Amino acid sequence: MLRNATLEERIAWHIAHAQGCGCRNMPEIVKRALAERGIEPSRRPTD
Ligand SMILES: [Zn+2]
Repeated sequence: MLRNATLEERIAWHIAHAQGCGCRNMPEIVKRALAERGIEPSRRPTD
């Protein structure tokens, strides 16, 4: 990740990362930002 990434860049990075990986490293601030945008973080079928 870029050291000086803005929140928007962090959000985009986490969305792309979650889709390709599915790990649970998404911070609360990013999840809240997604919720504010009406975006549901992708989940693995086993969750
Ligand atoms: Zn990951």
